[in-house]
Amino acid sequence: AMYRVKERGKNDYAFAYGEHQTIAYNSLAGMRDALAAGQFLLHYQPLMDTQLDRPVGFEALPRWRPDGGRLLLPDQFISIAEANGFIEPLTDWVLRSGCAQIHEWNSAWNAALRLHVNVSIRQLGRSRTANRLLNVLEEESFPPSLLTLEINETDLLHDLEQAARLLQELYEAGVRIAVDDFGSGYSPFGFLRRYPVHSIKLDPCLIRNIGSVRDSQLVTAITRLAEQLELDVVAEGVETAEQRKALPGLGCRIMQGYLFGMPKQAESISDEYGAI
Ligand code: C2E
Ligand code: MG
Ligand code: MG
Ligand code: MG
Repeated sequence: AMYRVKERGKNDYAFAYGEHQTIAYNSLAGMRDALAAGQFLLHYQPLMDTQLDRPVGFEALPRWRPDGGRLLLPDQFISIAEANGFIEPLTDWVLRSGCAQIHEWNSAWNAALRLHVNVSIRQLGRSRTANRLLNVLEEESFPPSLLTLEINETDLLHDLEQAARLLQELYEAGVRIAVDDFGSGYSPFGFLRRYPVHSIKLDPCLIRNIGSVRDSQLVTAITRLAEQLELDVVAEGVETAEQRKALPGLGCRIMQGYLFGMPKQAESISDEYGAI
């Protein structure tokens, strides 16, 4: 059934996507096959230290190119994967491939780049998740301290006890925890009290109008809070030179966004940075 999309031709994008969502919805097997068939790719986007003008790490972001179809972004398949159980093999694959790639760059460039991987709290709600992730690190001989798990702020409201236990376990193993999309949810303080956290990623909504008095005050207040709590801060969704210029004065020098590069496949990253 997966391949009917291809037969319809690749100009029928909207239809192919709608069709795909329905097909994929109940189909763990279909998505597993797609992964085995090499239809999933990993793109990497740099987190830049703007003072040193070099990447400190890369966020690994999966994409899915169904046979003959267009590239699907995480928003189009992560919730499906969460519903049908594919999220676990997918995350294992993202982590395994990301570890191998970062390891290769770190060796080639004698660097200590970090790998950033997104994990949903629903996964952390499963008791085997911490072990699963740590097993992959061990199999890949990847230092836990170079891995950052990015967890969505709004996600963090669910499943408090189980998530707290698992995050604690990962924390004790040396894995770093980032709060993703910080400032987009309701309760930025609840999880800072409950969970071990190393860094926060400022949501693009805080960066978009950074020239406005209100938003620059907010970002300054957050970076001061982060300093008090000894958390690193990353600004996400930096798209303009003005944003890039304003942020260091507000206490944030690590940035990620289209201004520095879109998520790209590993070969392009290797070409672009050559040596770090
Ligand atoms: P996120 O973790 O906040 O990732 C950043 C998203 O913003 C990425 O979209 C990236 O391509 C996009 N982005 C980066 N710079 C800019 C910019 O300057 N402007 C704009 N407009 N966008 C920018 P992507 O890859 O489509 O991922 C979307 C979301 O899907 C992620 O947001 C994350 O919450 C989720 N996600 C991605 N990969 C995974 C995964 O492996 N597992 C889970 N559970 N969730 C994932
Ligand atoms: Mg993220
Ligand atoms: Mg984010
Ligand atoms: Mg996001």
